[in-house]
Amino acid sequence: MTVMIDGKALADEIIQDVAQEVSSFKLKHKVVPGLAVVLVGEDPASSVYVRNKILRTEQAGLQSFAHYLPENTTQKQLDDLIYQLNEDDSVHGILVQLPLPKHLSESRVIDAISPAKDVDGFHPENVGKLVTGQQTLVPCTPLGCMVMLKRHVDELSGKHAVVIGRSNIVGKPIANLLLQSHCTVTIVHSRTHNIESICRSADILIAAVGQPRLVKEDWVKPGAVVIDVGINQITSDDKRKLVGDVDYHAVFSKVSAITPVPGGVGPMTIACLIQNTLTAAKHQFGA
Ligand code: NAP
Repeated sequence: MTVMIDGKALADEIIQDVAQEVSSFKLKHKVVPGLAVVLVGEDPASSVYVRNKILRTEQAGLQSFAHYLPENTTQKQLDDLIYQLNEDDSVHGILVQLPLPKHLSESRVIDAISPAKDVDGFHPENVGKLVTGQQTLVPCTPLGCMVMLKRHVDELSGKHAVVIGRSNIVGKPIANLLLQSHCTVTIVHSRTHNIESICRSADILIAAVGQPRLVKEDWVKPGAVVIDVGINQITSDDKRKLVGDVDYHAVFSKVSAITPVPGGVGPMTIACLIQNTLTAAKHQFGA
C-alpha cells in the first residue's frame, strides 16, 4: 500500500523537539536563540513564506526579528543591515528571503552573511563544507527531504536516487546529501536526453523542477519513493491551486511512498529552518 508522507505531521514533531531543546538552551545559556528574517519588497508568495516562518519560529520558543524593507532598498542599505545582524549577539540565524528584486545581487547578499549565522546554508563556505562532507549548516529544503527519506527508506545505501533539477538551493545540495548517505546519484535537468527512462530507474525520485505535474506515471519505477519539492500555482475550474512537479494522482498507486503538495516538503522546509537556527545558536555557544 502506498504511504502518503505527511510533511506537516513530521514538521510538527520537529518543532516540538526544537521547543524542548530551546527550553534547556535558555536555562543553560540565559539566552533565547534568535532568527532574523529579511524581506525586501512585497512579493505576495514571499510575504506568505516569511509570515509562516516567523509564526513557526515563535511557536518553537525562539525569538524572531522581522525586517521588512521597501522594494527600492539599495544594495548598500541591504548590505549594511546584514553587517549589523552579523554583529548582533541576539541574532543567531539570518535568513534573507529570495528572490530579491532584480536590482539587488543575491550572491553578494549571501556572501555577506556570516557563515556561522547562515541558516539557509547558501554561503560558499557552507556549500564547500557540504560538498566535502564536513559538518555544516545545510539548506533547509534538502535537509527536510532527507529527514522524510530516512523515515521511509530502510536503507539508503546503494539505492539509485535521481534528482530532477540542479539549482544551488535544492537540486545540488540534495544530490550531495544523498551521496553522503551512500546513494548512487544521478542529476537530470532541462538538457538531459531520455529523462523519462533515467527517472524510471530510480529507487528514489526527487523532483525539484518548477513544472506542474511534469513527472507522469510512466516516469516512475514500481515501488519507488517520490519526494516532490515543486510548488506550482495553476488555475483549474476557475480556482487557483498549488500542485507539485509530480502528477500525484497518476503515480500514487504505483509508488511505495510519496509527498503531497501542499503538505509535504513545504512544512518540512520551515521546520528545518528552525532546527538550523537552534544548531547555529548551539555552535555559537561552543556546543
Ligand atoms: P530553479 O532554480 O528554477 O531550477 C529548476 C531546475 O529544473 C533547473 O535545474 C532546470 O534545468 C530544471 N528543469 C526545468 N525544466 C525542466 C524540464 N522540463 N525537465 C527537466 N529539468 C527541468 O528552481 P528551484 O529553486 O530549484 O525550485 C524548484 C521547485 O521547487 C519550484 O517549484 C520551487 O517553487 C520549489 N521549491 C519548493 C521549496 C519548498 O519548500 N517546498 C523550496 C524551494 C523550491 P536547467 O538547470 O537546465 O535550467
